[in-house]
Amino acid sequence: MQSWLDYFPHWHEPVSVHPVVADVLSLGPRDEAELDFARFVDAAPKTEVHVHAEAAVAPSFYAGLAGQPAGPAAPFSDFGDFLRRWMRNLGHLREAADYARLGRAFVADRAARRIVRCECHLSPLDTSLYRARAAPGLPELPLADNLRHFAAGLRDGMVAAGGQVRVRAVVDLVSVATEDDLRAAYAALAPFVDSTDNRDANGERIVVAIGLGGPEQPARAAFFQTALAPFRALGLRLDLHSGEQLHVSPAEHAQAVALLSPDRVGHGFRGAADGFYFAGAIAACPLSNVLLRCHPDSLASHPIADMYARTLNVSINTDDPLLLGTNLVLEYVALRRCFGFDRDFFAATQKNAEAQLLSLR
Ligand SMILES: [Zn+2]
Repeated sequence: MQSWLDYFPHWHEPVSVHPVVADVLSLGPRDEAELDFARFVDAAPKTEVHVHAEAAVAPSFYAGLAGQPAGPAAPFSDFGDFLRRWMRNLGHLREAADYARLGRAFVADRAARRIVRCECHLSPLDTSLYRARAAPGLPELPLADNLRHFAAGLRDGMVAAGGQVRVRAVVDLVSVATEDDLRAAYAALAPFVDSTDNRDANGERIVVAIGLGGPEQPARAAFFQTALAPFRALGLRLDLHSGEQLHVSPAEHAQAVALLSPDRVGHGFRGAADGFYFAGAIAACPLSNVLLRCHPDSLASHPIADMYARTLNVSINTDDPLLLGTNLVLEYVALRRCFGFDRDFFAATQKNAEAQLLSLR
């Protein structure tokens, strides 16, 4: 069998096929029909709305910063294991200007994959407010500088891509944030969102939303309902990670989205056991759920098939392709292999992804 990279040399990630997804992914296409489908998805202009910029650039990006490789690291034992490796990668970001390099590298990656509309998550607090706690000894980068540099990197990247790619950003606050942390985040974001630093070449906002990432804490939803109000008053939308992690019950997921009324939910599958799904935009990341053991069974039992059958507003996304060794084409290939989902599914979920863009609504 030839490898995926033989057919798609512009994919830079070493495709990792962990045993838990070996039934739906292999190091290369299984047959001509699968290769045709992969070529079709690869060539199509695509939209992605749930992907973390720090984990969606080539391994060479981090290698270039730090002189050492930082590629896919699956298998993960659990979500906590994933978070530890995520922070290790961020240890390579040593100055705020690295965020500009990250932004440019991210847009270049999007362009190479023909992902022409994208809203990415960024977690700039991880190298500012949280660095002292998570990675003592590394420089603490000013949050306002991280934001300014990343937006500049996206702006420059979009210009370099000839205007063919449109990227917007969601700034993830952290689910463990204290009131002081959120005050510091607001102090950096408030003067930034309407400044020229946050404008693309057409004068449109680049950072369009806030998110909540990290370990899900449904018990803190009521706290965030109040605490996030000032951010939303800035005109920022809310993209909420919810209904993803194993410890979250269907009722907790339902209550979190009821309290916070997000504009889009990332993952949103953990209510399935009770037949509950968020009624709005759901950005699903099925391979991420299986690889991070948030869905501890095989892809064949992932609620994505139920969500699609119910014609929910659900899109397909990669979440953290660098760390997971996946990409958007392989997401669709795996779902085709598992459920027989073909071009109709691609078209329907891509249409949903376009409708889910927070910056266009
Ligand atoms: Zn995510």
